[in-house]
Amino acid sequence: MSCSACGKNKPKILQEVSTFTRAMYNLAKAAARGEEIVANKDLYDYRIRKCVNCYYSAFDTKCSVCGCLFREKAKSTQEKCPKGIW
Ligand code: SF4
Repeated sequence: MSCSACGKNKPKILQEVSTFTRAMYNLAKAAARGEEIVANKDLYDYRIRKCVNCYYSAFDTKCSVCGCLFREKAKSTQEKCPKGIW
């Protein structure tokens, strides 16, 4: 399905829920292992610069590949860009 505003692919709601649930699970697992789960400022800023300039960025807030709000996703050390950009 495409976004009516920009024509880019738009993930389905079930994919977004699945992505969010997987992210929370991975975060909880990492926290339980005592790993750092919050990206430092340099890493966060790097990721945001990539997302803002990315073809798949929708309205400067959402990734149209995975459906995540990338400003939130970029805060987690456990997350990766679905296109391998960061
Ligand atoms: S997470 Fe990756 S694909 Fe999605 S908007 Fe950011 S850089 Fe682009």
